[in-house]
Amino acid sequence: MNYDVIVVGGGLAGCSSAIHLADRGLQVLVLEQQKFPSHKLCGEFLSIEVIDSFTRLGVLDRVNQIGAHKIDRAVVTSPSGGRFEHNLPGTALGISRYQLDHILWQHAQTVGATCCDGTIVGDITGDLDQGFSVKTAKQEFRGKVVLGAYGKRSGLDRKLQRQFIRQDSPWIAYKTHAYGLSIPNTIELHGFDGGYCGLSMIETGEVNLCWIGHKKIIKSAPDRNFPPALFANLALADRLNQLHFNPGVKCNLGQICFAIKGNFVGDICMIGDTAGMITPFCGDGMAMALRSAEIAVPLVIKYLEHNLTKSQFKYQYQQKWRQEFSFRLKLGRWLHQAFSQPLLANLSINTCRQFPPIGNWLIAKTRGNRAS
Ligand SMILES: Cc1cc2nc3c(=O)[nH]c(=O)nc-3n(C[C@H](O)[C@H](O)[C@H](O)COP(=O)(O)OP(=O)(O)OC[C@H]3O[C@@H](n4cnc5c(N)ncnc54)[C@H](O)[C@@H]3O)c2cc1C
Repeated sequence: MNYDVIVVGGGLAGCSSAIHLADRGLQVLVLEQQKFPSHKLCGEFLSIEVIDSFTRLGVLDRVNQIGAHKIDRAVVTSPSGGRFEHNLPGTALGISRYQLDHILWQHAQTVGATCCDGTIVGDITGDLDQGFSVKTAKQEFRGKVVLGAYGKRSGLDRKLQRQFIRQDSPWIAYKTHAYGLSIPNTIELHGFDGGYCGLSMIETGEVNLCWIGHKKIIKSAPDRNFPPALFANLALADRLNQLHFNPGVKCNLGQICFAIKGNFVGDICMIGDTAGMITPFCGDGMAMALRSAEIAVPLVIKYLEHNLTKSQFKYQYQQKWRQEFSFRLKLGRWLHQAFSQPLLANLSINTCRQFPPIGNWLIAKTRGNRAS
């Protein structure tokens, strides 16, 4: 079968684009390497813009039904005892990726997309003129358009010879779920020397703990999941000592890259983290993944209906993507670097405490607008 669109990767960007495309009656195939449901490395904090995206996708009721935790307050601390508390400009959500990705995956099937999980894409060849061939270990699929939605890093990046994959990145991350602590309606971000750790509640009543740090922090650490650097922030140490970790939920990741990776490889259109990823400090990667799908989908439809040429499609996607995301990605990288260094973290926290409009500005500038 020749699909209109083949989506590689069934995470947020992949499933949401498949839902919008299938809703418009297109033949869509989604190929995902993991089996659903499964845990994924993430802070599981969904910033406020996602509510509109979920409404447009038709999944907001389901997300509310499973009891997504409401979050409207942020607490930020530095290792030297700096503390900044702030109300968020709306209500954000805490929901596990175990549930969220599964909801989107199921909904993509309900609206008519063909979805295959447990299927690793090994290669993509072709172009918009001749059509694409997408290869898995067992099968080869044909599509007119391919959306690359395979996330932060994949063997496919090497196969497609993307530039960023050759550069070493020092950032590593860990996530788990834990009981024993209640921090209702709050996202906590605790800085430490070399990184930061987020804590917030999800639908199960557990706390999601997720840290990102420079790889130097695990060097000779007896426990690589909880290196000593984390305990040097006493506010974080106090939290860690109260938590009882869920041994069934542990995700690690290395080589996390925050460079802008490019919107196209040849004619393959990249969305979500595959195009570029905002630093976790901003808690906005999932909203951006959903939004990038919303930018790409209308252009894909216009291209397939012959209302855009190939070069118009590529140019317009690039322009819109840059307009919406380039500044946010840069600011996110700057905040990430600053907050991973104790002195700068303390200075930033004190500045925000004394001049709250700066805090408001930073929050506003690292996320999108609510109306699309
Ligand atoms: C430490 C950390 C904490 C974060 N915390 C937050 C947070 O609190 N809030 C927030 O909004 N964002 C957060 N993010 C960012 C967020 O997780 C991502 O931006 C978001 O998941 C991007 O969605 P995506 O669909 O682009 O990629 P993904 O959700 O990663 O989906 C990509 C999918 O592609 C699949 N795939 C990969 N290769 C292949 C292949 N070859 N064939 C088939 N399938 C393939 C993968 O299995 C995966 O399911 C965090 C990121 C990190 C690293």
